[in-house]
Amino acid sequence: MPRNEKSGPRATGNRSSTHQGTNDTLTVQRATDERHAVEQMELPTRYPLARVSLYEPHAGRRTWWFAYRCPVCSYGHRGELRRATDEESAKAAVQGVRRARCGPRVWLAVGKTYRGAAAGSEVAA
Ligand SMILES: [Zn+2]
Repeated sequence: MPRNEKSGPRATGNRSSTHQGTNDTLTVQRATDERHAVEQMELPTRYPLARVSLYEPHAGRRTWWFAYRCPVCSYGHRGELRRATDEESAKAAVQGVRRARCGPRVWLAVGKTYRGAAAGSEVAA
């Protein structure tokens, strides 16, 4: 019986280990923590409080507007904030004592802001 013993050290081609740098992925997380916290303000008790919904203008439009259910007449009122340029200024413009459409003054406080669906809402000014 022929035995064939193959015993020979074969040098396997050693690849020089390529420099695979550890790519440190830097994940940047923007903490856009928008809280709709209505600040605890001193409410003038003589005016009924109305919670206002604020609406962002459509892309290309500029006018913010708001709507609320009137605490006086129980109907819905709405208004425009022509001077507002962003959410902050719109909030600042609508908050406070206003004359309701039906006559008496009401205290408006922004409850929720409805924004458009545009991701990031980065509008080129
Ligand atoms: Zn009213």
